[in-house]
Amino acid sequence: LGLTITVGEILVEIMATTVGAGFLSPQSFVGPFPSGAPAIFIDQVARFGGAAGIVAAVGADDFGTINVERLRADGVDVSAIATIQGKPTGSAFVRYRPDGARDFVFNITHSAAGEARMTEAARALVAKSGHVHVMGSAFAIPGIAAALVEAVATVKARGGSVSFDPNIRKELAQADEGRKLVDDVLAVTDLLLPSGDELLVAADAATEEAAVERLLNLGIGEIALKRGSAGSSHFSRQFGRVDCPAFSVEEIDPTGAGDCFGAAYLTSRRAGLAPARALLYANAAGARTVTRQGPMEGVSSREELDEFIAAAGREVG
Ligand code: ADP
Repeated sequence: LGLTITVGEILVEIMATTVGAGFLSPQSFVGPFPSGAPAIFIDQVARFGGAAGIVAAVGADDFGTINVERLRADGVDVSAIATIQGKPTGSAFVRYRPDGARDFVFNITHSAAGEARMTEAARALVAKSGHVHVMGSAFAIPGIAAALVEAVATVKARGGSVSFDPNIRKELAQADEGRKLVDDVLAVTDLLLPSGDELLVAADAATEEAAVERLLNLGIGEIALKRGSAGSSHFSRQFGRVDCPAFSVEEIDPTGAGDCFGAAYLTSRRAGLAPARALLYANAAGARTVTRQGPMEGVSSREELDEFIAAAGREVG
């Protein structure tokens, strides 16, 4: 199983301990927790047993250290995480509203996170990799987008593959520039990992069936659609449609579910497992994530997922 890499933002997340709207009055927080969608994703690839690396940047501070040390401990190649002098590690403050919506204060674009570039160390990592995972969120950060485009071109030219999680705001996808980036990545995507209406937005289609048809016609090999507490579905020419119900869990913190789902699905498929089995692992990874507070705290090893699946009585052959 070749090396899987991603390019993107590393952050710490600091969460309010009380439910409510915004941060306009003093309150208690818990954290810092290692975070950043690409970091969560690549950590889950490594914990599932895949070879994994990330191109990213942190500041010369404790927030950077907790991220790098967590990723290293979990088996991620951290050689292409640059330390940027004079800029702090990216951060996000988050508070949940009673209805589950979230308020954020971000420091990403102008933090060290926004400085991820194709350095010499990054090129050395990309040169060894057989798969690159693209996240739509990275397109919002100009320097990272350029690095990502280079990584995709290099990996594709070597005969490698690409997965794409279009976790992109609808407004950005519909702006001309955002649309072009999305279309450019879709044209080289082997595995698409949309959630909810991202499938329709990515395909610019009105129904799920039309969207799937259009995307498979583009040459995308397979789609794994995330449906939150309703589970997930796989679509491809080879296997058709495969559905997998969600696990029944109590949701504490939804952050990271989609990233862990994608990582477990991709790594399962790259290890040769069939879509039904990959969806089961992916749903299990997403479900375990939502039961833990903290974005990266619910990342699971393959053994933990096997135990979770067995405890739910959900084996597939
Ligand atoms: P995203 O975080 O990208 O929006 P989802 O919310 O769809 O993605 O979550 C990804 C996967 O995690 C789902 O397909 C599902 O398998 C699992 N999951 C998410 N939320 C829950 C939940 N409340 N209960 C059980 N499984 C969940």
